[in-house]
Amino acid sequence: MEKLQMKDNCVSSRGIYFNTGGGIQLQVIDIKHKDYIGLVSADTAFWSLVKKTRLGQALTDSSFLSKYRKKEKSFADEISALRFGLKPSAVYFNPTDRCNLNCSYCYIPERLRKYGKHMSQERLMQALEILKIYFKSTIPKGRIPQIVFHGAEPMLNKKSVFRAIDKFREDFDFGIQTNGTLLNDEEIKFLTSRGISIGLSLDGHIREVADRLRKTWDGQGVFNKIVDVMNRLRGYRNYSVICTVTKENMSSLTKMVDFLHNIEVPVCMLNPVRCTLPGGRESKPADHQLAKYYLRALDRTYELYRKTGRRLVVANFANVLMSIIAPNGRRLMCDISPCGGGRCFFALSSSGDLFPCSEFIGLKKFKGGNIFKDDINEVLETEPFKLVTNRLIENIEPCSHCAIRHFCGSPCPAEAYEMNPALSKKTLRKSGVNGSLEKPGAFCELYEEQVRYALRLIADGKEDAYLWDGWDKGISTSLEITKL
Ligand code: SF4
Ligand code: SF4
Repeated sequence: MEKLQMKDNCVSSRGIYFNTGGGIQLQVIDIKHKDYIGLVSADTAFWSLVKKTRLGQALTDSSFLSKYRKKEKSFADEISALRFGLKPSAVYFNPTDRCNLNCSYCYIPERLRKYGKHMSQERLMQALEILKIYFKSTIPKGRIPQIVFHGAEPMLNKKSVFRAIDKFREDFDFGIQTNGTLLNDEEIKFLTSRGISIGLSLDGHIREVADRLRKTWDGQGVFNKIVDVMNRLRGYRNYSVICTVTKENMSSLTKMVDFLHNIEVPVCMLNPVRCTLPGGRESKPADHQLAKYYLRALDRTYELYRKTGRRLVVANFANVLMSIIAPNGRRLMCDISPCGGGRCFFALSSSGDLFPCSEFIGLKKFKGGNIFKDDINEVLETEPFKLVTNRLIENIEPCSHCAIRHFCGSPCPAEAYEMNPALSKKTLRKSGVNGSLEKPGAFCELYEEQVRYALRLIADGKEDAYLWDGWDKGISTSLEITKL
């Protein structure tokens, strides 16, 4: 991994200019910092922070230009490898369609969550055997692919899931994303004693907020149960909490951060609600308001870190920060174009159907094949997968001329597809190409503000407080020009 970093000003050039003719394109971006301004090459994701008083000098200075020119190809190659060179190394595995909750923003259709099937134990083992063989041919020796049991609620098929974890422990890194309601002492002991990564969901710091949208089928909240599980997980490092941010809870995000930090959660995600299904769209917060509350919550994580020396990493923001500091070090794969769906990972439904990402599981058009009938390599090349993996930011307006397009990636294609249905049907009839995918996702302004915030942190040397321990292991600075 390489750390791209340049701070402060630079020296001048002979006969070559920025931004005209064949000159290097560097866009100036206001990061709302009192001293620094950002310069970004949108194509290569190279960035620098320049003192505002020296911007003119930086853009007319030859050593900056010539040093950048020498590195430009390696920056371009690095971003290209990340965008187009990766092969799948993880699977989101749905061992059941069903869920014991009925959260109003869920992206899985209600009929599936209510009446869907469990995957049989025999089928589950068979699927993992197929995946084991597949990954042997794609993943370099020494690396272990990841299987995340996902849902719906995977713990509804606990017996099969636990047997599979024990049978394939040497072959996969396992994780489970669960609503937490079915975790009792026995289940927690099983998972923690095997080092399984556990992801829980909780949307608020108090029952009145958390239970607004996350409820059982008969309308009961589950806040108390999840907090009980979190208390039992205190001290376990391999767990995280997802808070889905909606208009119902955005104004209490700072309190949520206090709550999570207090209960010693090591990592959380403050994920804006996916607008893939109508329920999600109904609870969508206004983008600019969400950005305001979200950045306040990030400020709070910093204050808590300074006060206690203990971090609460907000993983989805940390990913954006990593996309700037060390693009290859990012862990989640929504904030890059094309996104990770169908490229770095894919999703498997309880019937063995393969989709580019779990977000597509309710959208039959995006089924690429079936693990029990089709060759995975061929599935990755099918039209449904290609629609997603060929969604390039260069074809999306206004993203194609946005300076931060490689830090944002304009997620999410499933959301963009479902939010633009009229256009999609029309374009599909005309050309067979789904034009609605070539639309931005729902939270442009949130991404803009996150990137500005991240660059401000870097200007102030605060980035370490927002990232996990050891984030810079193996990272080197590829180009640094500091004060003259
Ligand atoms: S969604 Fe907005 S911030 Fe992201 S690349 Fe597009 S224009 Fe830029
Ligand atoms: S952007 Fe959407 S489709 Fe892509 S990986 Fe993220 S959730 Fe999945």
